[in-house]
Amino acid sequence: MASNSELYLMTQLLNLEGVKVIDYRIIEGIGIIFSLENKKKQVICPNCGKITELLHQNNFQTVRDLSFGNQSVYLKINRRRMRCPHCQNKFTEELDFVRRKRIHTLRFVEKIIEEVLNSDIKNVAKRNDLSEQEIETMLKDLGSDLVTEKPKNLKKLGIDGEGCSRLESISNRHVDEIAVVKGQRNYYVILVDLEKKKVIGMIEKRTKKEITEYLKAWGKGVLSKIQEVSIDLWKTYKSVAEELMPQAAIVADRFHVMKQVTDELDSARRKIKRETEKIKSKAKKEKILEGLKKSKYVLLKNEKDLNEGEQEKLKEVEKAVRGDGGTSTNLHQLWEAKYQTRKVKGL
Ligand SMILES: [Zn+2]
Repeated sequence: MASNSELYLMTQLLNLEGVKVIDYRIIEGIGIIFSLENKKKQVICPNCGKITELLHQNNFQTVRDLSFGNQSVYLKINRRRMRCPHCQNKFTEELDFVRRKRIHTLRFVEKIIEEVLNSDIKNVAKRNDLSEQEIETMLKDLGSDLVTEKPKNLKKLGIDGEGCSRLESISNRHVDEIAVVKGQRNYYVILVDLEKKKVIGMIEKRTKKEITEYLKAWGKGVLSKIQEVSIDLWKTYKSVAEELMPQAAIVADRFHVMKQVTDELDSARRKIKRETEKIKSKAKKEKILEGLKKSKYVLLKNEKDLNEGEQEKLKEVEKAVRGDGGTSTNLHQLWEAKYQTRKVKGL
């Protein structure tokens, strides 16, 4: 059993409003599990508005929270069923840090969504040991929260297309929500206030009609004050922006431009590798392949971030693909394009 001072420290570290740590365990290969207790005993009855502290039933559940370093963190919480002595109503208490029927804390969800904005659902799922479906649920919750709110004082709007591949196994509940064909790709459009760095809208479909309707619902009062619309390279966004916000300057999103170039660079690298395999001269082939070995990382990383060994490797790659003269010209051009883009965009 942990000492009181230990528990006090853990509560401080966890930094979650309204709860205290009453126990914790560290399980190897899983992470840290905190058992929590609600600090306040009294709950307001949602039916009559009077206060009750009568417990009807304990209801323990485990939710995931932000990690500590590389350790996953789980919270064992008691979402109590309460009884109201005034009106006999029985109800489940609300907790500020986790939605009902959800298995991730709100701050964990926030972090995941931020990551999705900078990457894509598939990679974020993999990195955080989540299923793609779990992330989709997070996005949908966010979308339904945002649908009733109009953005305030929005000057710089980011329209961000997010692609995610549907899971093969779709639960029945899911099929009810959206009709999807197995294996079909579903796209989300995420709207961001770039100044406040805040997600302000979520659209489940990526069609022009859906996006237009969503934005129109904000009204002219909001749309006419937007000075800049930052879009990725998808042309539908551009035409929507031109139609609804003619006063706004349209800029191509930095991140997406970079990502596009990086993706092209990586696929060029793979193509060269494939073509090199076909070269008949064994010596020549081996020389290029040797140079390309482990080249992905140094090619994709910022040049200024490379350490000495990586810089050497970069030179080696350059030498290998240059000597070939044919297939690698592509790689070289793309590579230069990448650094040019970076310079122009100040990345
Ligand atoms: Zn009541």
